[in-house]
Amino acid sequence: MNFDFTEEQEMLRESVIKLMARHAPPEAVRKWDGDRSFPEELYQAWVEAGLLRLPFPAEVGGLGGDALDLALVIYELSRVSTDLTMAFAGSIFCGLNVLRKGTDEQRAYWLPRLLDGKIKFAIGISEPDAGSDVGNIHTMAVRDGDRYIVNGQKLWTTGAGLKNSVICAYVKTDKTVHYRKGVTHILIDNDAPGVELRKLGMLGRRTVGTYEVFLRDAPVDADRVIGGEGGGWDCLMGGLQYERAVSAAGNCGGAQAVLDLAVKYAGERVQFGQPIGSFQAIGHMLADMQSELEAGKLLMWRAAWLAAQGRDALREITQAKLYTSEMYARHANMGVQIMGGYGLNEEFDMQRYFRDSRSATIAAGTSQTQRNLLANLMGMKAR
Ligand SMILES: Cc1cc2nc3c(=O)[nH]c(=O)nc-3n(C[C@H](O)[C@H](O)[C@H](O)COP(=O)(O)OP(=O)(O)OC[C@H]3O[C@@H](n4cnc5c(N)ncnc54)[C@H](O)[C@@H]3O)c2cc1C
Repeated sequence: MNFDFTEEQEMLRESVIKLMARHAPPEAVRKWDGDRSFPEELYQAWVEAGLLRLPFPAEVGGLGGDALDLALVIYELSRVSTDLTMAFAGSIFCGLNVLRKGTDEQRAYWLPRLLDGKIKFAIGISEPDAGSDVGNIHTMAVRDGDRYIVNGQKLWTTGAGLKNSVICAYVKTDKTVHYRKGVTHILIDNDAPGVELRKLGMLGRRTVGTYEVFLRDAPVDADRVIGGEGGGWDCLMGGLQYERAVSAAGNCGGAQAVLDLAVKYAGERVQFGQPIGSFQAIGHMLADMQSELEAGKLLMWRAAWLAAQGRDALREITQAKLYTSEMYARHANMGVQIMGGYGLNEEFDMQRYFRDSRSATIAAGTSQTQRNLLANLMGMKAR
């Protein structure tokens, strides 16, 4: 067993740390969060550094990296902000679906645009009545010659309003069959006719933004269907597993940032004549945070490694997503406690991690649904 990263992976990690230090210093991240604005120039810096190309094969202009490389990048981006990471991750997850399920023509059309930063992708699964119950999608696409007419509503679509964003929407094309056969994956420009967006006021993840998407008689060319009509469920499930494996890396990056902030503060803040970290109550909190973070990282790296090997890792991925998301939210809460009033003050970063971490146990599948899945895999079939 080898727990070391390769020299190339260490170089990759160093380059991402340097890039983020140059293009996303703490004061800038604080400002973007406060303004609820997304830094397009940072996205372009990721593009120029080749980060968007990383997990794609050379045949489509990629760098041939794997899920472990991607997890490494997402971990480092997330140490700076688990919010900013989502613009990168959402585009990658959807792009990999085009790679896996698209035709040669679709790959040739969409992937260069994505890899060159001309478009971004946003994941459009959830709807008002389709949260954990993903199959309950109501948005309908009706074939009309060489296009579809789409009507319905998407909800919580992260990054849908970013510049040149394309919404990777999951819609029904047949309501008479089981949802696994009636869902279709279709790509819709965020500024296309019939598309209206509303940025939602959310507790956290305010830079990339969470959107409501209204689709009213939106005409979408049929050649924008990925995976064939009725083939959307496969795209959705394959994409979700990858998303969960790699989002665990984001949770660990966020939790590492929380721990670093908490340790620094506990070493500097003096009360009753001594640093608060020397009080056993605070020291033990930090010791627990560090131990749990290491446990979460082991789950996460193993899940990413298995995904990189192309191995079936549903259980390991689900465990990593479940454990690290709860750990990140719990640690950010403890980080606020350790910093007292400063932990809640907008001039300090802990409150941002606290707000951003809260969605970790909800987005990409709630903790309850992850536990349902794990129990099912243990033979405890839910009704
Ligand atoms: C910040 C953020 C960003 C998001 N980004 C995206 C995105 O980009 N694209 C996208 O498509 N979606 C996105 N989502 C949506 C996310 O995937 C859903 O919020 C999530 O799947 C839960 O759905 P829901 O919010 O409707 O909650 P519900 O499904 O209504 O659940 C409410 C509560 O009931 C529990 N529950 C539901 N069913 C069961 C069950 N069978 N057993 C036990 N408990 C259950 C849940 O665990 C939860 O506690 C995002 C969400 C957030 C918060």
